[in-house]
Amino acid sequence: MSRIAFSTEPPSPVGRTVVVGAGPAGLLATLRASTEAHEILLVDHGKDFYGRRRPDARQYADATTAVSGFGGAALLSCGRMRLTHRVGTTLSPRFPPHDIEDRQREIDTVLLQDESEKNIELYGTDMVAAAALAARATECDLDYTHYPVRELDGEQLFSVMGSMRERIAGVGRILCGTRCMDVRPSPRSGSRWEVWLSGEGGEYPRLVHADNVVLAPGAAATAWLHDQGQRLGLPSRPATPEIGLHLEGPRDLLEPLLTAGPDPLLTWQSPDGATARCLNPWTGDGIVPAPGHQGAHRHVTRRTDRSSNRAQITLLVRCTGPQALTASQARVLAFHGGVIAQTLGDFFQDRPTTGTTGAAAVGYLPSLPKATTGSLSTLLPRPYREAMKALIIRLAKLSPSLLHEENLLYGLAVQGIEHRFDITDSMQAPEHPGLYLVGDGPGLTDGIMAAAETGWIAGDAIAAQHRPMVDLGRLVPQARNANQLSHDPIPAA
Ligand SMILES: Cc1cc2nc3c(=O)[nH]c(=O)nc-3n(C[C@H](O)[C@H](O)[C@H](O)COP(=O)(O)OP(=O)(O)OC[C@H]3O[C@@H](n4cnc5c(N)ncnc54)[C@H](O)[C@@H]3O)c2cc1C
Repeated sequence: MSRIAFSTEPPSPVGRTVVVGAGPAGLLATLRASTEAHEILLVDHGKDFYGRRRPDARQYADATTAVSGFGGAALLSCGRMRLTHRVGTTLSPRFPPHDIEDRQREIDTVLLQDESEKNIELYGTDMVAAAALAARATECDLDYTHYPVRELDGEQLFSVMGSMRERIAGVGRILCGTRCMDVRPSPRSGSRWEVWLSGEGGEYPRLVHADNVVLAPGAAATAWLHDQGQRLGLPSRPATPEIGLHLEGPRDLLEPLLTAGPDPLLTWQSPDGATARCLNPWTGDGIVPAPGHQGAHRHVTRRTDRSSNRAQITLLVRCTGPQALTASQARVLAFHGGVIAQTLGDFFQDRPTTGTTGAAAVGYLPSLPKATTGSLSTLLPRPYREAMKALIIRLAKLSPSLLHEENLLYGLAVQGIEHRFDITDSMQAPEHPGLYLVGDGPGLTDGIMAAAETGWIAGDAIAAQHRPMVDLGRLVPQARNANQLSHDPIPAA
């Protein structure tokens, strides 16, 4: 039997951190972890930054390029960055809101560090309008969450990520086109982890020794991370998926919702535990089938077409308890028949839409005129369907034109199908010192800023390991001289 040849990188004398994944989580982890006293290696199996650039930054050349490579899924995302302490059920319950907000502000500053990027406007700063919308939402039995938002177009995203690329290159080694195959506890003294890497074109695997490993592989690598987790014995909980529909109609569809900011989060909580929310409204954009993620976490998404006369908003429902779908059931639903379109009138009557999507839409040009018409309402399990209807009815109290019969629903979209890994407050896997889990892949976040924040926290924890210890012997006599400390004897260590 032939043996696999591999090259081994010896343990670094100063300590080494390997970050897997160059999306927002991995990038911020790398920046924050960097200290002069240790070495950082950032690996991503996708293309490097410049290899992902194309004339229209928002057009996907292929599915892999869209979510993979330097910048991660964020590089070709819609570019909407939400600065909020409501960053999902992993971070929000752990830290006081002002801690999260402070970190988000710092991340915002780090991302927009270059002079040219500072001009990217922050929307949603009118707190009077926010309070008015919140009051109207409460009357409609909805909960309104207000937060400031930055909207970056394709060029701005490239500029932000390009400057990140330069800064990261200054603090660590970037290895794109390199896949992390495996992470194992190291049998060697002096290093905690072995990281197995494989280069582009089937290069021999390379073994790297590391004190710390940050796993930031994003939502598209859920299956790989799940396998890793099982082999390493990392505790995780099954996902609770969210099922989504995109509601599309004429351009003025959403205006009353947009009085306080471009991205209102409106939530309805059903008495039996379903949570229905709407977010991500767009005016003038389009919906396209999402690039084929392994695991289909988003089935339909957007492309830029600002000249069009339509608007859309995403509606999402999550159920809990026995009525909740499992991740695999949700995945099967999302793949069922590709993107289906149904008019709102038919959705509420639970009858299929027939004819063409193009003919069904009235007063606007639908983004997918050739989408198959059918019945999303009967595809959705009952609790999801009922919660979706309840949400639309409440939203229509704020914005009556939402309820026009000719508006279209597209679906199904699915998100939140990642296993949610247990982590400590520093994003470390419990009982696995030096192994950090960050971003969307381990089911901790869903969005650029939240993913970046988990990376930031992990990076800080790693940097803290490498900071020089405070020399008490040097500090204490000085302080005593300055009469700043009591004269109690210092206890022996
Ligand atoms: C079409 C689309 C639009 C979006 N729009 C928005 C938006 O407007 N606002 C917003 O906040 N969020 C948006 N998102 C979500 C946002 O992009 C993600 O939440 C965010 O990028 C997650 O960051 P991450 O670092 O966890 O993972 P990712 O950004 O997914 O990065 C993970 C990286 O890890 C690499 N990787 C995976 N496995 C391995 C491996 N084994 N070895 C080496 N490398 C590996 C991948 O190549 C990838 O580059 C959008 C997502 C999509 C798909």
